[in-house]
Amino acid sequence: MIVERLNTAIIQQFNLEVSMARADQIHPLASGNKYYKLKPSLEYAKDNNIKCLLSFGGAFSNHIHALALTAQKAGFDTIGIIRGEAQYADNPTLRAARNAGMKLVFVSREEYRQRANQAYIENLQNEYPSCLIIPEGGSNNLAIKGCINLAKDINTSNNNADFDVLAVASGTGATAAGLICGAKGTQSVQVYSALKDASLENRIKRFIKPCANQTYQIHQADYGGFAKISQPLLEFVWDWYEDTGILLDPIYTSKLIMRLIEQVKVGFFSRGTRICVLHSGGLQGWLGMEQRVVKLMGHSYWQKLERILANTL
Ligand SMILES: *Cc1c(COP(=O)(O)O)cnc(C)c1O
Repeated sequence: MIVERLNTAIIQQFNLEVSMARADQIHPLASGNKYYKLKPSLEYAKDNNIKCLLSFGGAFSNHIHALALTAQKAGFDTIGIIRGEAQYADNPTLRAARNAGMKLVFVSREEYRQRANQAYIENLQNEYPSCLIIPEGGSNNLAIKGCINLAKDINTSNNNADFDVLAVASGTGATAAGLICGAKGTQSVQVYSALKDASLENRIKRFIKPCANQTYQIHQADYGGFAKISQPLLEFVWDWYEDTGILLDPIYTSKLIMRLIEQVKVGFFSRGTRICVLHSGGLQGWLGMEQRVVKLMGHSYWQKLERILANTL
């Protein structure tokens, strides 16, 4: 894993050592944390002769996208249970999933709400007996194992640079949980929630129960709600790109860095703190946002973004 030192004016001003772990560059198909989360499930399925993988997601889901593309490459059939109407079927995320052979099943929001319900899962298993059912976001116990490996890869990069803090954006909390379990020594994990969701803490607690090392803190970073974007956020994304050459995603990492910089400015991190921020990927998420981005920032912003994405995705 490439871990890059960042040197923006704010970082220098507050005497911090900030690095970014570039999981966004790790895999051309399943960028970022999804690669680490899914890898053990793909291995489990292969070892158990399971031919099909089934999972859940919204119409712009990074997880659905990553699952479809990596599973196809590994020779699995895939089924995506998608929240909402089939009108989304031709958005860039789902088009890519379908082109990778994923069978899309659109369900109502009411049905989607049952995705973690035991009886509902049993019914689905009966309907698709040959499939391994993977929860939303890929967040099963195997994903925690995968993200323990992610922590290891971060901590053994760059000749084992020592980090005091790992900072990570969070949805289901599985990635954060894996980092918490895999953190070394006195390292703490700072978790930035992309959702307005009070149950995140309990989910993380459940995931990390078997782990010894448990130093973490949760911060709210939804900025108006999950997947909501605004003019200030998009301006921030652009400034960050100009300062660092790194494009953030609109849903997770942009909000993580925005909150982290606010914290830096009020002295949340003491001088000399060595922070490693995870770029968990998610750049494909921009493709479904053209209309919203153009409305907030105009065509020229979108065209600049498109050019960067064309060189990245
Ligand atoms: C899915 C995703 C996350 C959140 O991961 P969880 O394990 O669900 O908390 C963070 N960043 C990006 C880019 C993602 O796609």
